[in-house]
This record gives sequence, C-alpha cells and structure tokens, in this order.
Amino acid sequence: MRQSQLFTKARKEAPADELAKNAKLLIRAGYVDKLQAGVYTYLPLGLRVLKKIENIIREEMNKAGGQEIFMPTLQPKENWKTTGRWETMDDLYKVSDTSGRENALGPTHEEIVVPLVKQFVSSYRDLPFSAYQFQNKFRMELRAKSGILRGREFMMKDMYSFHTDEEGMVKYYEEMKKVYTRVFTRVGIGTTTFLTYASGGSFSKYSHEFQTITPAGEDTIYICDKCHIAVNKEIIEDLKSACPECGGKNLRTETSVEVGNIFELRTRFSEPFNLSYKDEEGKEQMVVMGCYGIGLGRVLGTVVEVLGDEKGLVWPEAIAPFRVHLVDLSAGNEEVSTYARALYTELNACSIETLWDERDLRAGEKFAESDLLGIPLRIVVSKKTIDDGGQVEIVDRKTGQVRMVDRAEVFKIADGSFTVGLSD
Ligand code: ATP
Ligand code: MG
Repeated sequence: MRQSQLFTKARKEAPADELAKNAKLLIRAGYVDKLQAGVYTYLPLGLRVLKKIENIIREEMNKAGGQEIFMPTLQPKENWKTTGRWETMDDLYKVSDTSGRENALGPTHEEIVVPLVKQFVSSYRDLPFSAYQFQNKFRMELRAKSGILRGREFMMKDMYSFHTDEEGMVKYYEEMKKVYTRVFTRVGIGTTTFLTYASGGSFSKYSHEFQTITPAGEDTIYICDKCHIAVNKEIIEDLKSACPECGGKNLRTETSVEVGNIFELRTRFSEPFNLSYKDEEGKEQMVVMGCYGIGLGRVLGTVVEVLGDEKGLVWPEAIAPFRVHLVDLSAGNEEVSTYARALYTELNACSIETLWDERDLRAGEKFAESDLLGIPLRIVVSKKTIDDGGQVEIVDRKTGQVRMVDRAEVFKIADGSFTVGLSD
C-alpha cells in the first residue's frame, strides 16, 4: 500500500486523556481511535493487526474441530431470565425499545448458544462438538482506563464445547490448554504468558486463565518457572502458596493481564435450558459443557504493552500490519524514485506485504514515523544507497540492527531465510 493513500495520519502527541501505553501509542500511530471511554474504532492499520490475530485464532480453533458461527448481539431478556443472570450480572447492558421489549447486549453467549444447539442435539450420536465465533461483547466495565485492554465494547473469540460426559469434556478442556498456548506463542507473547490456575467462579473448583506479564495488568500472579505455570493471587490461599503441579514453593510474583480464560461449565447452562440427550440405554442425560474465551483487542493491546518501546510500536512478524516498510528518500530524484517503485512492485509480486512511504517528507520525519508504526523490517532507498552499488539499507525495528544488502537478497524475505542480524 502507498502510504500517501492511507486516510489516517500519525500524530505527534498522544491525547491528554489517555493514560495507558497501548492506547497512547496506537492512537498516535493511527491504528485506533477512541470514540468514548472503553469504545474504540479500528483504523486500517489496526484492523490489519486485529484480523491477523483473528486468523491465527481461527486456524487453531478449526484444528481443534471448532465450527464457526456468528450469533446476535441483541439478546432477548427471557434467555437471561432463564439462567438468572438478568438480575445477577452487574455489567450487563440492558436496552429497551419503544415497544417496551427488553434485551441484553451480549456480554457472553451461553444464553444464546445453549438454546441454539438444543434444536440439534437429541442423541449421544449428536455429541461431542464445539462451536465458536468472533463477536463484539458489551460489558459495563466500571474502570475503562486501560485503553483497549478493557473495553466496554470489545471483540472476543468465544467457543463452547458440548459433551456426553465429564470425561469427554475434561479431555477436550486439556486439549484447549495446548491450543491456547499455541495461539499466544504464535501472536508473539508465548514466553511472557502463563497458564494460570484461577477461581472457577460458580462453575467448578478452578478455571484456567492465560496471564501475560505486564505492569499494565490488573492481576497479580505467582509463577512457578520450573513448570511455566502460575496461580492467580485471588486463589492462592486455596492452593497454599505452592505450585499446583510440582508443589514447589519458589514462586515469583508478577503483575499481569488475563488474555484468555477457559472454563469447565459442566451443566451450569444445560440445566436451565434443559439441554439433554438420550444415552445408549435411551436414558435422558444432561449435556456437559466447556467454554473458552480470548479477547482480541486485549491480545493486541497486550502485545503493545509488552513489546512497544520508547520509539513506538514493535510488531511480531505474525501479526504486523505489513512485513516491510519501504522508506523512499527520493525527494524528487527520478533515479531513486524509479528504483523504489520497481522494488515496491517486485515486493508485492512476491507477496511481501509492503507499506511504501513515497510521501515528500524529511528523512528524519519519515524514520521517526516508521519507528512509531513498528513494521518489522524497514527498507531504505536513497541516492546514497543506490550510489553504493544498487543496494538498499535494511533496519530491524526490534533490535535496531542495520545491514546493507543487494537487491536480490531482499527477496529472501519472502521465504523467511533473511535475517538482518546475520553478517555476510
Ligand atoms: P477480567 O477479569 O479482565 O474482567 P473476565 O474474567 O471478565 O476478564 P472473561 O469473561 O473470561 O473475562 O472473558 C474472556 C476473555 O475476554 C478474557 O480472557 C479477556 O481476554 C477478554 N476480555 C474480558 N473483558 C474484556 C474487556 N472489558 N475488554 C477487552 N477484553 C476483555
Ligand atoms: Mg470482566
């Protein structure tokens, strides 16, 4: 994409009312815009990142046998009355229309998915299966001061699994722990994200959260480095300050944010909706459920908190909006601009996603903005680099390492064999 065509612009200053690092950087770089507290628009660059996170999650959910659906936001009050959550959920948005009908704006979708699947489940032969969606959730969060980490409207992947018995559910649940670990590794926060024992709420003894270390988080966890797992402080009493897996007492304390959560729902929602099936003997049994959530905006914001530096955003390759930022310093020089245009065309032909900064701005301004945008590789083309024998300069955004390479080598980026840090 040509940068001059991008309708959004980077800004020099962060808005004064934003306190969170993630929102300050994302707004300055033109990735998101704040409409009101906890409610954000994703702009072209931000949406590219969000979609990449979405696709990684989709691939992993599909591999785990999940079937994608898309359920409504506007949810009848009756469904919420059935589970009792119309009264008990404090952060539920309730809306009524001119005819007096009341609805909830979905903060989660058990109340919708259970009556939905009930229409299709009658026998043990119809089980097990899982269904998931990407959908905006609405929650009246009291403290919406963490930028996109805590939205009042936010995108979530929520998956629900349905089983004949607890054994089947637990097996799938254990599998999902691995699937979630893969998701967080693929989006670039694997080393700082920990499977965390947490309270099971009203459903079961424990649930499992995925917590990423960052001072921007609101949780405190105790980490066992030996097992690469953690315990949420809120339940440490119960676990007697020891690692639930190895029993070790050498735990370190960190501040963290919950990027994902998996729950054994068991029959908490099957019962109120009478979601049952006939077993092999023809006896009615309750369907046993699990649920699995990941906040996409929260993951995106967490990556910014963990990897962003004093110059701006730093994207892991897998979720970067573009692979290459082609910074064209032709400044009216025909030879340089022809070279840059040809390079841009070739990069696109090799399916290397490239943002081409062909705007007529000072080099210093372009470099500062390039650092702010955080695209993994910057390719600089100028009179000087060309005079150096038809070469280009490549800068690794994360490490700051610089290398002069010839044109042919640039295209090794396409097969992943190129590294800025390698010496010739
Ligand atoms: P928290 O304790 O942080 O409020 P939660 O326990 O309410 O989170 P869940 O209901 O388990 O969250 O939601 C599943 C996932 O959705 C969370 O792990 C998180 O990634 C994301 N999430 C929850 N609330 C928000 C929010 N307000 N804004 C953005 N993402 C959220
Ligand atoms: Mg919450």
